[in-house]
Amino acid sequence: MQHFPEIIARYEGWVCQKCNEPLVPGKTQLAYLGSVFDVELPVCPKCGMFIVPEELAMGKILEVEQVLEDK
Ligand SMILES: [Zn+2]
Repeated sequence: MQHFPEIIARYEGWVCQKCNEPLVPGKTQLAYLGSVFDVELPVCPKCGMFIVPEELAMGKILEVEQVLEDK
C-alpha cells in the first residue's frame, strides 16, 4: 500500500460533509491506466467517502506507475 503522510497530515481535522464525521486514514483503491493501487487516504469511517487530492490524481500516481514499471 502506498502511504502519503503529507496528505494525511494536510487533511487532518477535515470532516465528511455528508456525515459530519472526522476523516481517518484508511486504505482505498485507485484505478489508474487499468491497474488498481492500494493507497492510504483520508476516509470517512461512516460512508466510505475518501479524498483524492489533485496532486495524487495527477502526479504521485504516475510515480507509483513508474515504480511498478521499473521492477
Ligand atoms: Zn461520510
